[in-house]
Amino acid sequence: MELLKKLDAQLRALDEQSLIRVRKTVETPCGPRVIVDGRPMLAFCSNDYLGLAAHPAIAAALQEGAARYGTGSGASHLISGHSRAHVLLEERLAAFESAYLVEARALSFCTGYMANLAVITGLASVDRNTEIFSEALNHASLIDGARLARTSVKVYPHADVEALAVLLEQSSATNKIVVTDSVFSMDGDLAPLPALLALCERHNAWLIVDDAHGFGTLGENGHGALEHFRLRSPNLVYMGTLGKAAGVGGAFVAAHKTVIETLIQRARPYIFTTAAPPVLAHALLTSLDIIEGEEGRHRRSRLAALVAQWQDGLTLRRWQPLASQTAIQPIVIGRNDETMHAAAALYEQGIWVGGIRPPTVPAGTARLRVTFSAAHTTPEVAQLIAALNQLERT
Ligand code: PMP
Repeated sequence: MELLKKLDAQLRALDEQSLIRVRKTVETPCGPRVIVDGRPMLAFCSNDYLGLAAHPAIAAALQEGAARYGTGSGASHLISGHSRAHVLLEERLAAFESAYLVEARALSFCTGYMANLAVITGLASVDRNTEIFSEALNHASLIDGARLARTSVKVYPHADVEALAVLLEQSSATNKIVVTDSVFSMDGDLAPLPALLALCERHNAWLIVDDAHGFGTLGENGHGALEHFRLRSPNLVYMGTLGKAAGVGGAFVAAHKTVIETLIQRARPYIFTTAAPPVLAHALLTSLDIIEGEEGRHRRSRLAALVAQWQDGLTLRRWQPLASQTAIQPIVIGRNDETMHAAAALYEQGIWVGGIRPPTVPAGTARLRVTFSAAHTTPEVAQLIAALNQLERT
């Protein structure tokens, strides 16, 4: 059929550029040791930074939650899907971020992708004269949120506060929204949030911070990027995800209570979707207890020790590890095919690392995205280091 032939031709073209993406099937719970398509593998590619995705206490809370709340929410939040479990989760999340926001309130979402669509479109919808200022390396969900807002979008270069200052200066918008990842998902570095916030306060702009990779891992208490940088401002709008360090799924926005009420009333990705199963919200309460408590502190310091071990042990010459202090430790190889060959060679040895290609990263900067978890052991990290050092030389 003509229609299918066109799709086939495009898929073949992707394949010829080493751009076809394949899904591997994991048979076991997420963790460093997994069975993938029937093979035991040592994985360095999940975002389960604290090793909570298979935590027995959270699994037990999930069972208890199912007994108490059932399995589905049955409707959107504004109809009848908003359960006591969502209320408790939102109260707990607001408390998590209350030191960094003014009159904090939180709103839970099914995914971070949807939370980003909601927060950007919701804040943009209040004023026809809105301009969005988006960091060049922002996650796809922020880019899509800005597109969906159907307003002017200016992209500023990565971490370039000066360039953003010029754009804000030039703007005549009456509603200015700066949007940034806190931890860049494919680079692992941190946005200069204190300087960005100072700029936003000077220009009366919102600063939306996507802390998908910082929530749970950054800050003494795991509260994330705002705690890490000790920020506090009514201009801050915080987005955290709950499927990475928190080990379950979902996301939330925390901000001044007026911002949250605005999202409830105006944000279509919040309003027109079925609420997440309350059982997930219930399990997340246990996850948050772990993150904030002694165990979370211990897991964060374990993660930092593994990252230090990795940085000390790598002796690469051609391939370029990026400067990152977070659990995301990419190695830029450059070419798509060489990157995928390296990932395949590691896979052959039983080590699973993600190969990341355009359009996720700029052309010519294909990379291995190594991620660590507090559940990894020192010998496991040593095995990865030895394999990579060796592989680069062959
Ligand atoms: N923001 C960033 C920076 C991310 O890396 C991701 C997930 N990869 C998201 C948002 C989306 O979060 P979720 O997976 O919960 O949809």
